[in-house]
Amino acid sequence: MDRRNAAIPDPVALVPHDVSISIRNVDKYYGGNQVLFDINLDVKREEVVCLIGPSGSGKSTLLRCINHLETINTGSIVAAGEIVGYRMHRGRLHELRPKDVGRQRAKVGMVFQQFNLFPHLTALQNITLAPRKVKREDMAATTAYAKELLARVGLAGKENSYPGQLSGGQQQRVAIARAMAMRPEIMLFDEPTSALDPELVGEVLSVMKDLAQTGGKTMVVVTHEMGFAREVADRVVFMDAGRIIEAGAPEQVLGDPRHERTKAFISAVL
Ligand code: ADP
Ligand code: MG
Repeated sequence: MDRRNAAIPDPVALVPHDVSISIRNVDKYYGGNQVLFDINLDVKREEVVCLIGPSGSGKSTLLRCINHLETINTGSIVAAGEIVGYRMHRGRLHELRPKDVGRQRAKVGMVFQQFNLFPHLTALQNITLAPRKVKREDMAATTAYAKELLARVGLAGKENSYPGQLSGGQQQRVAIARAMAMRPEIMLFDEPTSALDPELVGEVLSVMKDLAQTGGKTMVVVTHEMGFAREVADRVVFMDAGRIIEAGAPEQVLGDPRHERTKAFISAVL
């Protein structure tokens, strides 16, 4: 960051060592429309956080801000030891340089509702594309790791299949392996099972559960799968209308919510 102005504190220096994602006082607007209001959330290293809430509450926007797919208007986000966005009230926006965006993104893997695999590339080629381009890793090591990841998501033997030859659940598992290929510290999931036929949801959730339980990654998962949240999350965060309404242990937020809006949401989805 710009250190010429000594009065500006360095947000990275303010983040405790065991915190992987630090979100402070974040506001976000689309044009004149404010969609995030004073968001504060610290996610610890290797913590699994499930983000729940009604449609339009700002869950995707918050994930996209963590990965610098959107820029914030106020506050700061530090992820994996890098500043993602930083602007104090009425202050100057700290703009990331393109090379910093690239370095930061390599530390954060993201899986979307629509898997967006490249249709003309095989499963293996989809996974090796980014590490080959960005890290210029040697081909043999990259391929070996991609095969290891495919095996880990239960797709050993599907290396040479094209996305069109795979089911939705298999494609999403390839997308998870692809996001893992850069060995990110943080994995973000935005409703990874919402586009799947019901009978394919379980296989994707079980891969995510395995990732969570193996450890080594910080995970933020936007999901409507309350069973998954209850079983796998260390913490559940409920958002509504651009605000974090409550956060806590899954059994508390899902089983004994404190706020009326959380109660209404939980009783509607369960
Ligand atoms: P969620 O993921 O919880 O459904 P979103 O983050 O997608 O919520 O949306 C939050 C709000 O921001 C909604 O009102 C939505 O219409 C609006 N929004 C989302 N993306 C954009 C965009 N690219 N441009 C303008 N408004 C957007
Ligand atoms: Mg969304």
